Amino acid sequence: MSRNSSPKEIWYETLHAHFGQYFSVDKELYREKTEHQDLVIFENAALGRVMALDGVVQTTERDEFIYHEMLTHVPLLAHGDAKKVLIIGGGDGGMLREVCRHKGVESVTMVEIDAGVVEFCRQYLPNHNAGAYDDARFNLVIEDGVNFVNQTSETFDVIISDCTDPIGPGESLFTSAFYEGCARCLKPGGIFVAQNGVCFLQQDEAVNSHTKLSHYFSDVSFYQAAIPTYYGGIMTFAWATNNPAYRQIDSQTLQARFDAAGITCRYYNPAIHHGSFALPQYLLNALSATR
Ligand code: SAM
Repeated sequence: MSRNSSPKEIWYETLHAHFGQYFSVDKELYREKTEHQDLVIFENAALGRVMALDGVVQTTERDEFIYHEMLTHVPLLAHGDAKKVLIIGGGDGGMLREVCRHKGVESVTMVEIDAGVVEFCRQYLPNHNAGAYDDARFNLVIEDGVNFVNQTSETFDVIISDCTDPIGPGESLFTSAFYEGCARCLKPGGIFVAQNGVCFLQQDEAVNSHTKLSHYFSDVSFYQAAIPTYYGGIMTFAWATNNPAYRQIDSQTLQARFDAAGITCRYYNPAIHHGSFALPQYLLNALSATR
């Protein structure tokens, strides 16, 4: 590995005490202790702008498209007729950008606990929202997601939990109270998806979510994608619905919906959609051990 001649500040991820990743901070753009979290946004020559909360990388300009395309187009194209979408978290705006590409979606509500994240990402990560914050279908609620899903009178076709890891404010979005609230405000035939960690390093997170979600939904599983800066292997996305047919959707139907949506992607395609529901045996073994 070539030694870097020019000394730069090195930023170390703090998610795991004994294994991690680091970034050179080529230019610090913003650092703020918001009401809820420590936020930093900096430039890195390899990954573009990087945003971290409480020492954990949330998103980078270079690989965010993988995560945002997979957490939106898989549930929306499997559903086929989603009109009302709820995003929990998502303050950087990338999830909103991808949802707004679906012309059939009539409203997108984003429930973000930290107004500072929206404000600073709008300014320092403009490519993430790419103008979606100005979409007429968008409305922002500054609230803890678990409170919103347990109190709202609205119902949704798809709920996307784009939250931090279960530490700090994100912890409440991995609880039964949150999952029960999501089941409560999903329309019949609705789909819930959530970022659920890198299963090789955070297997308990996936097992715990699966166990809790199974109390409120009849079809609970995961799908996956590898996102480089969520280091340690594939990231699992929780999948929960009461309609098992969504996971069996045939290739022709999926391809027709993707073509009709007129969306060009850099990661997602119908074959990746199907393949993403294949899970490693060690995770399947861990999930069946809880049954
Ligand atoms: N892609 C990232 C990941 O996989 O970890 C998530 C990115 S997004 C920036 C995470 C957002 O969740 C942040 O804006 C954070 O403020 C928000 N958040 C954390 N806990 C929350 C809660 N309880 N309710 C609503 N939003 C929350």
